[in-house]
Amino acid sequence: MDLTGKHLIKGRWQASGREGTFQAVDPANNESLPTEFFNASLDEVELAAQAAATAFATFSHLPLEERAGFLDECASQLDAAIEQIVPRAMAETGLPELRLRGELGRTTGQLRQFSAVLRRGDWKRVVIDTAQPERQPVPKPDIRLTQIALGPVVVFGASNFPLAFSVAGGDTASALAAGCPVIVKGHEAHPGTSELVAQCLQKAIETCKMPEGTFALLHGPGRTIGAQLIQHPAIKAGGFTGSIAAGRALLDLANQRPDPIPFFGELGSSNPIFLLDSALSQKGSEIAQGFVGAMTLGAGQFCTNPGILVLKEGKDSEAFLSEAAKAIGEQQGQCMLTPAIAASFVKGNEKRQTAKGVSVKAFGPQGQGNLAQPVLMAVSAQDYLADADLQEEIFGPSTLAILCDNDEQMLAIAASFHGHLTSSLFASNGDEEMSARLSSVIQQKVGRLIFNGFGTGVEVCAGMSHGGPYPSSTHVQSTSVGERAIDRFVRPLCYQNSPQALLPLELKDDNPLGIPRLVNGVWTSEPL
Ligand code: NAP
Repeated sequence: MDLTGKHLIKGRWQASGREGTFQAVDPANNESLPTEFFNASLDEVELAAQAAATAFATFSHLPLEERAGFLDECASQLDAAIEQIVPRAMAETGLPELRLRGELGRTTGQLRQFSAVLRRGDWKRVVIDTAQPERQPVPKPDIRLTQIALGPVVVFGASNFPLAFSVAGGDTASALAAGCPVIVKGHEAHPGTSELVAQCLQKAIETCKMPEGTFALLHGPGRTIGAQLIQHPAIKAGGFTGSIAAGRALLDLANQRPDPIPFFGELGSSNPIFLLDSALSQKGSEIAQGFVGAMTLGAGQFCTNPGILVLKEGKDSEAFLSEAAKAIGEQQGQCMLTPAIAASFVKGNEKRQTAKGVSVKAFGPQGQGNLAQPVLMAVSAQDYLADADLQEEIFGPSTLAILCDNDEQMLAIAASFHGHLTSSLFASNGDEEMSARLSSVIQQKVGRLIFNGFGTGVEVCAGMSHGGPYPSSTHVQSTSVGERAIDRFVRPLCYQNSPQALLPLELKDDNPLGIPRLVNGVWTSEPL
């Protein structure tokens, strides 16, 4: 598989070359990698958007089995290209081989999961309320509810998951499953990986004879082509993972359109960990080891990285922090994804160290180049509550321990949090009352509440919620991981007194798809 440096538009690799080029940088040595990538022009944005709009008419109406087969083919093409994709992704991200092989497995697993969701059919959430012509004082009409695709979707690939949250990642898989053509604005940190993955999707489109505008990849700056895409009239939704600043800018653009569209951004999260008294005294050492593992995993470049610890000041917290400090000191330095992310990590830590009342409890080994130096800092609850900036996410292995005097202060800390993706409660025998009080406060702040564990592993399954109140997500009712991610790219459509011939298959009396439907208040897969 050779790299062209071009965009995939209407099934062809093309580039006008008018907007200049860029190269990927290997974060391990800051050297430019081979292949010049073209920045897309406004004309190319237009071409891709029009092709997606044309494809939508066909793609969204394909039999579910055909769309499921296409997703399976995308997964198979990616599996077949693993030996090309992984080395390029390693060079572009500094991530280790094992991690990237695992991430490709997760990516293909997500595609196959959505093909299974399509075949199962329950994502249509069909409701049928049959007519009651004899009802008094007015007859009841026949009402049938299903879900239809929104339209073309723009996806912004994430830097920290170059496969599972990028070109063929969860946003793309769920949008395609829903019947929405996808245009990916590739992340400039891994353009070669993006192209190799897009080549796999292109082959799947050809093999399955999907419309040529089903999928497009454009390279170029977010501020220009990303902004143009989210504002294009043909685009009907956006998916994004990245910083609060970029996500907020795109959300505002989506909302300022004459026809505002949903924008599903997954932004910052510090994933607070609460360590309750008995857990701390009984299992403090074990938790400290687990915490340092979670904090430094992947150089802390996970949206679920534990960035805040909340615990009570005393001899148990001292023992915990000194055990964690020792483990942090023994960590190997890990390369960050890009020089800009490494620089922003250093800047964030420098700013935090100068904040009132903040002290450094531990530094990991000094990092060189783009290696991250893990940092554990501490602050009193009082100083934390007085400084709103301390809640800002520092992307990387940096954690702030908030030391409380009593339960009420711990609850006040929980109440002060803005939205986060996850929160963990470590509790043991004797912590029951405080667990109940804390969880009733913190459940209003997060999308996933974890007991005696860390949020870094995100299970991709039907019950997962990966979202939460702003700024962890721009859309509090949605998840970007798991089967429910498909809900973001469909909308309800209700048919009233429709002739059978005009109903989609899932709403017809004889239920030809054999899917579960809520008929007059009872779940059944039987025909009417
Ligand atoms: P980013 O700066 O948010 O960029 C993500 C995407 O948005 C890129 O495609 C970027 O395009 C585009 N973009 C940036 N600014 C934009 C704007 N004003 N308008 C439209 N599009 C824009 O994220 P990043 O480069 O991956 O990392 C930077 C920081 O983001 C990290 O240090 C970290 O703080 C945060 N981050 C958080 C998570 C998380 O999961 N919480 C994940 C990744 C990153 P370009 O190609 O032009 O840059």
